[in-house]
Amino acid sequence: MDSLADLLHARGSRVTPQRQLVIQQVLATRGHIVPEAIYAKVSQQFPSINRSTVYRTLQLLEEMGLIQHAHVEEGSTRYHRADDPAHLHLVCHDCNAVQEVEDLSVGEPFRQALLERFGFDCDLTHLAIAGRCQACRQRAPSGP
Ligand SMILES: [Zn+2]
Ligand SMILES: [Zn+2]
Ligand SMILES: [Zn+2]
Repeated sequence: MDSLADLLHARGSRVTPQRQLVIQQVLATRGHIVPEAIYAKVSQQFPSINRSTVYRTLQLLEEMGLIQHAHVEEGSTRYHRADDPAHLHLVCHDCNAVQEVEDLSVGEPFRQALLERFGFDCDLTHLAIAGRCQACRQRAPSGP
């Protein structure tokens, strides 16, 4: 915690109590770091805290390489701790369930094909893959 404060100082960023609490919440979070949830927690202690303080602090932590963002649900950003295992996100558009797939090798043929045919090196963990989950498909099979 102290070294993180030093890092922030070194970047010329002020370490306010609000900012410190945001960082504490981020470090205590397991799995997806949801900006709104961090805001809700921190505002219990600092009712006057601005949403933008939370978002700016998250951006700062990302610039420092401590967290990474991904787009899981529409219109919102989720962060991951840099030391969490990378994973694909499968989002069901029927029940909104998010499945995490840590075996990145399932996406490797696709990634390789894009690289070979278009010279494009994609990051499959950044965007969610939308579709229908197994449970929804079994409940209401679609198609002929
Ligand atoms: Zn994730
Ligand atoms: Zn992005
Ligand atoms: Zn589903």
